Amino acid sequence: MSEITQTSKINVITLGCWKNTVDSENLLGQLALNNATIVENSDDADTVVINTCGFIDAAKQESIDTIMEAVERKNEGKLKKVIVMGCLSERYKNDLITEIPQVDAYFGTNQLREVLKELDARYKYELLGERALTTPSHFAYMKISEGCDHPCSFCAIPIMRGKHATKPQEEILAEAYRLAAKGVKELILIAQDSTYYGVDLYGERRLGSLLQELSAVDGIEWIRLIYAYPAKFPREILSVMKNNPKICRYLDIPVQHASDDVLKSMRRGITNRALRELLSSIKSEVPGVALRTTLIVGYPNETEQDFQTLCDFVREMQFHRLGVFTYSEEEGTTAAPLGDPIPNEVKEERKATIMEIQKDISEERNSRLIGSRAKVLIDRHEASFAVGRTQWDAPEIDQEVYVKNGSQLRVGNFYDVKIVENTEYDLYAEQS
Ligand code: SF4
Repeated sequence: MSEITQTSKINVITLGCWKNTVDSENLLGQLALNNATIVENSDDADTVVINTCGFIDAAKQESIDTIMEAVERKNEGKLKKVIVMGCLSERYKNDLITEIPQVDAYFGTNQLREVLKELDARYKYELLGERALTTPSHFAYMKISEGCDHPCSFCAIPIMRGKHATKPQEEILAEAYRLAAKGVKELILIAQDSTYYGVDLYGERRLGSLLQELSAVDGIEWIRLIYAYPAKFPREILSVMKNNPKICRYLDIPVQHASDDVLKSMRRGITNRALRELLSSIKSEVPGVALRTTLIVGYPNETEQDFQTLCDFVREMQFHRLGVFTYSEEEGTTAAPLGDPIPNEVKEERKATIMEIQKDISEERNSRLIGSRAKVLIDRHEASFAVGRTQWDAPEIDQEVYVKNGSQLRVGNFYDVKIVENTEYDLYAEQS
């Protein structure tokens, strides 16, 4: 082992999605096994590794800005080394080498060994559950597969993350047991499409059996399902969700749009009617389930009528949680030849309109929770509040519950509370 790792102070900056978070945690875990010095703050570092995102314009710009900041600090002699990894450099490596040559090395999304070598560290072994968590220690993201086989016209992720690759069930279980032994109580299952789990490796969808096996892990109390793909949705998992108290009654299922013409052009493989039928059956088969979705507005062929169809759909489906992206033209995708004809201000207007509809739905839904009780997992303290989440809320993207006079409550513990107040997107509670 050469000196650089022993003396270097390495900071890893993670941008983008939770899949990047897991990749950075694996890198940090490997560096820890090499006795590297990891620093939280890039100001204290002499080596910075930037794990980039290349999903849409805004995310790409954030990645480039972060790289430029690091390069500037290197030019000022405040940094010795700048390394870039992840989706942006997976997609634009040659352009980046030409345009920002001050970066010491560029790596893609699946080059952990090469990044470690660049840091004069050695890849030790598969870190099943030993990655260095960057989340609070009571919850962890669990990547169950990599890549995606779906043909969504607007999406560049398959270009950056490759074909769908299922992580073997025994590896996921080994990781879950180790994470539980370290105090993790909530596992958040992530993938590009978590419902496709098993198809490539086992020749069948295996998410149901994976959920069953994970729920047998002692110490794990919540298992949360993120990124379910609506078309060909494996309904057999609904009874697993219904009958297994450890599986959160929560499902993140991005639908992206609701107009048949737009869904067809997006190559989503599903219609408005089938979407409504699927979502209604999920709600009836899993009583009390919270549905989260993501939408795209401003897609090239989206007419005013298509947009009204989407608004009606949002009003009708009454999602618990909802996020909206404005369409971003991505080269190399099948939608790119359609151009980007809808002006940004129209896209922003449509996004604001949907969020206004959702705000009212969320407000009304939250006000109905007043007086009810809920089990809350405490994530942090803020002033005199203990702040946590119910099983209906994922970290970072969903609602929070502010427990009054909660300074005695312990982070990482569950508590039963009574909901006493609400805002459109948060709840206030008292210990019960
Ligand atoms: S399911 Fe569609 S939107 Fe999601 S990662 Fe795959 S191609 Fe992209």
